[in-house]
Amino acid sequence: MATLLDGKKLSQKICAALKSKIAKIERLKDKKPGLAVVLVGDHSASQIYVAKKEKTAREFGFYSEVHRLPAASEEKEILNLIKYLNESPKIHGILVQLPLPAHIQTQAILNAVSPLKDVDGFHPLNLGRLFIGDPLFIPCTPQGVMELLKEYRIEISGKSAVVIGRSLIVGKPLAHLLLGQNATVTICHSKTKNLEEVCQTADILISAMGKPHFIKNSFVKEGAVVVDVGINRFHHKIVGDVDFENVQKKASFITPVPGGVGPMTIALLLQNTFKSFERSAS
Ligand code: NAD
Repeated sequence: MATLLDGKKLSQKICAALKSKIAKIERLKDKKPGLAVVLVGDHSASQIYVAKKEKTAREFGFYSEVHRLPAASEEKEILNLIKYLNESPKIHGILVQLPLPAHIQTQAILNAVSPLKDVDGFHPLNLGRLFIGDPLFIPCTPQGVMELLKEYRIEISGKSAVVIGRSLIVGKPLAHLLLGQNATVTICHSKTKNLEEVCQTADILISAMGKPHFIKNSFVKEGAVVVDVGINRFHHKIVGDVDFENVQKKASFITPVPGGVGPMTIALLLQNTFKSFERSAS
């Protein structure tokens, strides 16, 4: 039976460490790191994610602002808000909750966030810095996956890693981080032929495709490390991309959903916000 990669536990550890650092700084300097979240429209999953981010930020000692704009907002209104947040001394991290409504050019909005407050790491400058090996902010979900692998001392160098998904948010940066730690990386996507066979070659198999229970036992090599990034609503439950019940019998390590990568994403968001705060103070 696989060992659980417990993201809930590790995220609590990361957040608790941040909380005690913040308490110390607050006592000395009466300042705290601030996170602003911009939510446009009433996408139901986004509302849940934003509420969770706000609650966790407050719980661990951060200052938090959520800006809720109507779905019909014009691009200019969002850009004005971002300009204001870029200049606000109380704010060290800005997160624009995706997806944005279809009439908004997402990339134009992401480009407007100051790279110095881009705690999600989606600004082209931050993605570019990651790719040249001089990262400032790394996207939170891929960074969370790498922290989980590190915590459980999973060897990456020389291993074969298969990443399913090529989004800018998860798949591409994650593949790059694995490559940076000397894995031999294969990226799979919706046009990949023989996905099952490619997955069978993986020492480390990471799925970020958003398809409930798609990754079956037969996709997994005996003893592989399986990381499930997927979050899917399935029969009124939240499940991952991996058929956890069966795959856990074959894998050496596996993330649960929920309680795996999800909480790590929030912890890394707070860690990036704290890092930005420290940079601004130095
Ligand atoms: P996306 O829709 O942008 O990308 C999905 C990727 O999966 C695409 O690159 C696509 O080519 C690939 N794909 C789809 N069907 C496939 C198939 N049959 N075979 C092979 N590849 C296939 O999604 P995303 O934003 O990268 O998110 C992926 C999943 O991760 C979603 O379930 C999302 O909810 C979840 N997610 C979780 C967290 C977290 O904190 N745990 C954060 C971000 C995203």
